[in-house]
Amino acid sequence: MKNLRFFIFTFMLSLLRAPLLFGFEVDKKTARDIEARIDQFGPEMVGLRRELHMNPELGNREIETAELLSSKLRSLGLEVKTGVAGTGVVALLRGRPEGPTIAVRADMDALPIEEQTGLEYQSRNKGVMHACGHDVHMSVVMGAAHVMSGLKDRFQGNIKFIFQPAEEGAPPGEEGGASLMIKENVLEDPTVRAIFGMHVWPDTAGDVFFTEGPIMANSDWFEATLIGKNAHGARPHEGVDAVVLAAETVLSFQSIISRGIDPTDPAVLTIGRINGGARSNIIADRVVLEGTVRTLSEVNRARIPELMESLLKRIASAHGGDYAFTYEKRLPAVINHPELARLMLPTVKSLLGENRVHGVKPQFVSEDFAYYGRVVPGFFFFLGVNDPAASEAYPLHSPKFSPDERAIPVGIRIMTHLLLDGLRQQAAIGKRTPES
Ligand SMILES: [Zn+2]
Ligand SMILES: [Zn+2]
Repeated sequence: MKNLRFFIFTFMLSLLRAPLLFGFEVDKKTARDIEARIDQFGPEMVGLRRELHMNPELGNREIETAELLSSKLRSLGLEVKTGVAGTGVVALLRGRPEGPTIAVRADMDALPIEEQTGLEYQSRNKGVMHACGHDVHMSVVMGAAHVMSGLKDRFQGNIKFIFQPAEEGAPPGEEGGASLMIKENVLEDPTVRAIFGMHVWPDTAGDVFFTEGPIMANSDWFEATLIGKNAHGARPHEGVDAVVLAAETVLSFQSIISRGIDPTDPAVLTIGRINGGARSNIIADRVVLEGTVRTLSEVNRARIPELMESLLKRIASAHGGDYAFTYEKRLPAVINHPELARLMLPTVKSLLGENRVHGVKPQFVSEDFAYYGRVVPGFFFFLGVNDPAASEAYPLHSPKFSPDERAIPVGIRIMTHLLLDGLRQQAAIGKRTPES
């Protein structure tokens, strides 16, 4: 009888502790300490963001950025590696031993844009600007490092803070970005079990926008050349007009999107450049079309280039011309791992309240965070940075883009809780890795 009572008592206790039934929220004392540390370091992180904003550097050239970040991370007592994938910085925070390792990633690069915000802390590096908010990402992730380094006796396992160069693409002829980070084993030693990331978003500051599955698209590049035959502009019957071939191609390509694919699985095909012809009275023998294809599924990613090529073949042969076609798969889609999303979304909702966490449709822009998500389960969200009181808000990559810095402490809070809860989730899942 005594044994049975003891059994019931311990069973009830285990239920109270059962993370899958009752969520993973940190205990009250830790939650209070997180808030206190955000209050303590928040203003410093806004200051860091301004310093980064004043000194933006282009992809694979983030030298001063890396120095600033690595010195801060070292002062927190983290194990810091520099020179990863060029200018990348990776810092490991060890909690109590024998737990899993999870990672968070921020991108470091700025864009070749001349800033027009007129802010007192606007870019001092002419023609270069943090117009994609990567300065905010770095401050949020650095803020989480500041908060968590003071709580390392409260969690089991390790957090890897990844600061990655060249998200916007490496300069021509250079390698860089997430794929190179992975090649240089950023997800190993210790092995990363899940990875978190965010991007600022032109919507209400401090709100979160999220969807399970693909949240950003596959982004591919193509070049199609229509080959005709020169003739005098007044004697078209003696040539093959590549301009006419190109005109047919431009319109036919759009019919792939409207007629060739499943309408419930959307895609975008954009021809951004047309180049051809010599002068007004010569039949052009060559027109080049260059563009991008954005898809959410592997089905469309495979099917669309096939349909493009079969149209090119038919259009060219119908008029006695020829074609050349190059299609390159560039960035994969960012996919929010469904199981990780199911486990982590309650953390975000309990922090902000349901009404500040919004569903978002998949976006056809791209992000090289996608590469990490192909190796380990990934969780990627958008953090709103528009000042609700501002009369006008400028989009990402605008020379007037100016995120509301009040989103920074919110980002730090979300990231810290995601990492702490994520560690406990992964420990509970044990050796099992969610299937990709
Ligand atoms: Zn960007
Ligand atoms: Zn970006």
